[in-house]
Amino acid sequence: MEDIQKTEEDKVSIVKENNPLPNIHENNAVFTSNANTKFCKHCGEKIAAEAVVCPKCGCQVENLDVEDKPTPGSKDKIVAALLCFFLGMLGAHKFYENKVGTGILYLLIFLVGWILFFVPTIILAIVCIVDLVNLVTKPKRYYIP
Ligand SMILES: [Zn+2]
Repeated sequence: MEDIQKTEEDKVSIVKENNPLPNIHENNAVFTSNANTKFCKHCGEKIAAEAVVCPKCGCQVENLDVEDKPTPGSKDKIVAALLCFFLGMLGAHKFYENKVGTGILYLLIFLVGWILFFVPTIILAIVCIVDLVNLVTKPKRYYIP
C-alpha cells in the first residue's frame, strides 16, 4: 500500500516538475483578465480590454463611438452620397472630399461634354454612378486616403 501511494505521489510531483509553465501561465492569465483583458463575445477568446475588433475571429466586440462623432478629416458618407446623387456631375462630392482637381475635371466634362456629342457627359454619368455605389458601401464616417 505504502509503495503504491508513494508512486502516486511521485507521479504527481513528476507532472508538476515537468509542467511548471501551465501553472504560471494560468496565474498570469487570471491576473491579466482582472486588469486589462476581456473575453470576445463571439469566440470567447481572451483579448485586450481596449480591443475593438477581436484579433482571433475578427468580429467587432465594441461599438465605435467615434464613428458617429465628426472627427477631424473624416467625411460623412450621407453628405457625400447626397452630393454625388444630386450634384455629382458637377463634381460636388469630389470637392467635399477635398479632391478639388477631380472635382474641377468632373465640372469641366459636364460643361463642355456637349462639344463631343455628350459622349464625355455619358461617361461622367457612369463614373458618378460608380462613385455613388462606392460611397454607399463606405462606413458612415470615412477618411480620404
Ligand atoms: Zn473573437
